[in-house]
Amino acid sequence: MSSLKISFKSESYSLKDSFTISRGAKKSAEVITVRISDHNHSGIGECAPNLRYGQTISGELNKLQAMTQALENSSNGFERVFINKFFSPSPARSAIDIALWDLELKKMRESIWSLNKIKKPDVLPTMITLDASSIENNLKTARIYIDCKIFKIKFKGDSTDIDRLVKIREQFPKKRLLIDANESISPSKISEYINYCERFNVEVLEQPMRPEFDNLLSAIKTKTILCADESCSSLKDIEAIEKYYDAVNIKLDKAGGLTEALIMQESAISKGMKTMSGCMLCTSIGIAASQIIAAKADYIDHDAPLFLEQDRRNKIDYSKGNMNIANSVLWG
Ligand SMILES: [Mg+2]
Repeated sequence: MSSLKISFKSESYSLKDSFTISRGAKKSAEVITVRISDHNHSGIGECAPNLRYGQTISGELNKLQAMTQALENSSNGFERVFINKFFSPSPARSAIDIALWDLELKKMRESIWSLNKIKKPDVLPTMITLDASSIENNLKTARIYIDCKIFKIKFKGDSTDIDRLVKIREQFPKKRLLIDANESISPSKISEYINYCERFNVEVLEQPMRPEFDNLLSAIKTKTILCADESCSSLKDIEAIEKYYDAVNIKLDKAGGLTEALIMQESAISKGMKTMSGCMLCTSIGIAASQIIAAKADYIDHDAPLFLEQDRRNKIDYSKGNMNIANSVLWG
């Protein structure tokens, strides 16, 4: 029987404005917060289930319930190694994994940086997302966050996409641009979109089509970096997609936790792929646990908390295109 206590609950964080991508618009970030405590310390974790992967808040709460029962009855207890070995990757597993990391670090009085022997950066940059709602909204957001190094433009696979790209490029001729199509480009249009990327100097095209069309990417010769997101959740997926993509977007919710995400990043880097540290619509807890991935990533997409009306206490602060490193009171 484990001496650790686990509790979890769903929480809703309203967004300042609705956030639109190819799959629809959201008005809030729906997350589950997990706390794991011993007699002296408490660790916190978070996950953000995504309907794209068939995940819901109630489904992940059920998984947490089942995992908790299995762990409480097991002689292995709440061991990270055990959890990652016996439960499939899911947002629920990610939230437990992240909470266990936090608890372990607090017990050891160590930071995630010293434990992983990585120099703690003063700040880390993040790209800023321009959603797929309208060019007016995009330009408004772009002007607020003009100091960021990269804009990530969300595409939704209709005629407004290229119009928005042209206008954004016109207004910001020197800005580094990334397009995230969220699978919305039809296979018959992929060459046309690649041409636009080259013409308007788009550095990265993220997940242009649905994963079943990945093989069509083999025929494409382009200087635009092709990055997998929906096509790659696990270590096994990296093996499958490395011949089609130059980069992979690593997210803790997809990987099923920080433990697996660290292994995925090592694997991708060893194959010569670039990595992006991404996130779902989450709070500063989700970002805090990803910052160690971000520190080694070529691209950092950690802007989700900026779109919340109200974030966690002791939140990560964003300023001039950078975010500060999470305080250990928040996580780690
Ligand atoms: Mg993406």
